[in-house]
Amino acid sequence: MDGYIVINKLIKDSKPPHPIFLPGVKNVSPIIRALYSMISVITIKSHKWFMQDKRMTETEEKAYEKFTLGYFVKEVKNEAIQKNFIWCLNFAAEAHKDQKRKDIECTPYINHPIGVAYIISEEAGITSLDLLRGCLLHDTVEDTSVVIDVIRARFGDYIANLVEEVTDDKSLPKQKRKDLQVIHARTSSPQAKMVKLADKLYNLRDLDRSLPKGWTEERRREYYEWAFQVCEGLRGINSKLEEALDEFFKTKGLISVREPTDGPLEDIPWPEHEELKPLIAAANLAAKVHRRRFLFNASNSVPYINHPISIAFIITEEAEIYDTSVLCAAMLCDVVGEDNTTVEDIQEMFGRQVGTLVAELFTHSSSTEDKFKIQMNKAHSLSYHAKVIILAGMIDNCRRLEVFEPQGWSQQMRENYFKWAFQLSTALANTHPQLELELNNIWIGQGLKTFPMQSKEEPQCI
Ligand code: NDP
Ligand code: ZN
Repeated sequence: MDGYIVINKLIKDSKPPHPIFLPGVKNVSPIIRALYSMISVITIKSHKWFMQDKRMTETEEKAYEKFTLGYFVKEVKNEAIQKNFIWCLNFAAEAHKDQKRKDIECTPYINHPIGVAYIISEEAGITSLDLLRGCLLHDTVEDTSVVIDVIRARFGDYIANLVEEVTDDKSLPKQKRKDLQVIHARTSSPQAKMVKLADKLYNLRDLDRSLPKGWTEERRREYYEWAFQVCEGLRGINSKLEEALDEFFKTKGLISVREPTDGPLEDIPWPEHEELKPLIAAANLAAKVHRRRFLFNASNSVPYINHPISIAFIITEEAEIYDTSVLCAAMLCDVVGEDNTTVEDIQEMFGRQVGTLVAELFTHSSSTEDKFKIQMNKAHSLSYHAKVIILAGMIDNCRRLEVFEPQGWSQQMRENYFKWAFQLSTALANTHPQLELELNNIWIGQGLKTFPMQSKEEPQCI
């Protein structure tokens, strides 16, 4: 059993939440929570019954929010949106964990789906949860052991159909698959066209950045020409992506005869989820700066980026915290110092709250023991959310270490890791009951003495 199975067990045991109702309401008494959940469920079910439809358009949704539970439902829904997104991001990262891109640096594969989602949110300006999840999952069925039935069961028909549409039939010869991509482009659904446009844009830029090992200039040129043909069929859907592609192809002497245009996207239920924009940007930045790192500094381990993604996953799934700033800081917790990234950069990109949290989490030292010592020393002065991020990080590391032996690690090093983590967790006690409960289970498994559980405080705001 390895880390992937452990995380996957978590994923298996907890289905992704429905984007509308979720028990994520904080700071209110359990009775009011239960009452609101009940009213939400009844209202939504009756709405669906009236509509006889599983999905709502943006207009319907707005009207619905106005006439039903209004602001409150929206609050709960937003939490579910972030949770759904992080859930999917973690699923994709674990699914691709053993794969590398073809570039010389052998970048972790997950950087690509994250980058495709980033193109959709930043360049196309679309922040729909469904489309972003489609981007994150677009290569899972084609390139990993995940089968489409799993995607259907976990993410529903809409996402499964989208993933299926952008998945090549690997049983066909390579050339046939490439020809079919050109043929199918024109008749693809608008949402599949969006994913494919962003996918091609990412791949073309990637190829332009560095020639993969074993590739000739001629092969790269063939790729550009083939991608140009595919993109011709995908046109008429999003002018911004088409402009970006035109700009790229122009540098290769490939000019389209068609002007960039926007297509009929209004028919698709794509409400914007602006709150996802910083999350995808944080994941993209973290994936980029960690591209050469492996967790536990061991080459047999998962790409380092899987760790901050798992931290965000644990924070939503187990700590039930959905604050966008906290989730961004969780994903960016270790970026300072990598690729010359500074706290000021983070502050500029993600705002003061994220910058402050990331600064709190930064430790200058590279040795694990020193890091623990530094965190121990400042444990009492850390903010509530910094403590939560550290606890979630420890949970992820410990869960992975329980079943995984990093290359180059002696038994002593493993034991030390648990010992230091245990000490730090006692210094951070009374922060979050659920996270402490999870850690207690780990300490019990490791034969370490557990600390008393007292924490019942409501989260403070940062
Ligand atoms: P491939 O299909 O082999 O590789 C390109 C695909 O790899 C991309 O679409 C992308 O898919 C993925 N990928 C992974 N890493 C990168 C990266 N860093 N940059 C860009 N893409 C990356 O490419 P070809 O089109 O060259 O190969 C297929 C065809 O080429 C076949 O017909 C084959 O017979 C022929 N061929 C030609 C050779 C030549 O020298 N001319 C040699 C060998 C084969 P994704 O988005 O799914 O990640
Ligand atoms: Zn792809």
